[in-house]
Amino acid sequence: MTAELIDGKAFALDLRGRIATLAADFTARSGRKAGLAVVLVGADAASQVYVRSKGKATVEAGMASFEHRLPADASETELLDLVRALNHDPLVDGILVQLPLPGHLDEQTVIATISPDKDVDGFHVTNAGRLAVGQPGFVPCTPLGCLMLLKNRLGSLSGLDAVVIGRSNIVGKPMAQLLLAESCTVTIAHSRTRNLADVVRRADIVVAAVGRPEMVKGDWIKPGATVIDVGINRVDGAEPGKTRLVGDVDFAGACDVAGAITPVPGGVGPMTIAVLLRNALVAAFRNAGLELAEGAI
Ligand code: NDP
Repeated sequence: MTAELIDGKAFALDLRGRIATLAADFTARSGRKAGLAVVLVGADAASQVYVRSKGKATVEAGMASFEHRLPADASETELLDLVRALNHDPLVDGILVQLPLPGHLDEQTVIATISPDKDVDGFHVTNAGRLAVGQPGFVPCTPLGCLMLLKNRLGSLSGLDAVVIGRSNIVGKPMAQLLLAESCTVTIAHSRTRNLADVVRRADIVVAAVGRPEMVKGDWIKPGATVIDVGINRVDGAEPGKTRLVGDVDFAGACDVAGAITPVPGGVGPMTIAVLLRNALVAAFRNAGLELAEGAI
């Protein structure tokens, strides 16, 4: 069997097109652009790249991007004051504080200060709680992107066996909640799980969010299963001094067995920013008291 590729890049592009159409509709109806504020503390190279691409994607979607940069030695008070000001700014619909923060700043305190109604990353405990009890809120971007890819490929997920490998607050746990809400039978695996290969072998859906290059082997996969590989791992490339990206799944091995699989790169990765824009636009409609058709994006 050769697995079908799930093209996250194409799906994300299409989603961003639909977001741009709705963002224009929002501007026409509200008289202002939907606004996303991104806060970067310090000069971490990878974070700078992420923040720049988020800002660019926001503007491309016809939304307003507000970038706030604080020095690496900014105090917690300075950062919390900025977040509170953004909470009260009527032009800002969504707030994202780029993680990780420098060590002297407590991430949980910062996340707890963001208004849950502007928490487009979905990291606030209020939004985690809303997801757990099935109330509308904001869901972390990466797992929501994975769910969109799964539903696009499989339609109804009801009754399917799903295994999520990883239990982080930003990927594994919300992914499991989303799959449960779709009536999957969900198993969450982690570093203490015994006989992981056997656990994975039961799954119709495998979501790997571990951070270990090519850990999930092809012979762990049930024939025909759908595999979503969240992992982004940089490993040595074929040529000396060159690196390449691989996922948490042994892609070549899994391709022989799975029904469908996301590649790395070009699978889950492009979905994360697209869903961030989606969450920011949903926040804008809600904050402005405007209706957004159910399932429009
Ligand atoms: P974390 O490090 O927070 O969590 C990793 C999880 O994997 C933990 O729950 C850990 O278990 C589990 N784990 C570690 N080793 C094993 C093992 N040997 N067997 C089974 N489970 C194991 O990572 P994140 O959730 O933040 O990210 C996971 C991956 O996804 C990373 O590669 C990251 O780069 C990528 N990522 C990609 C994104 C994208 O946009 N595509 C966005 C976010 C993340 P335990 O809890 O027991 O320690």
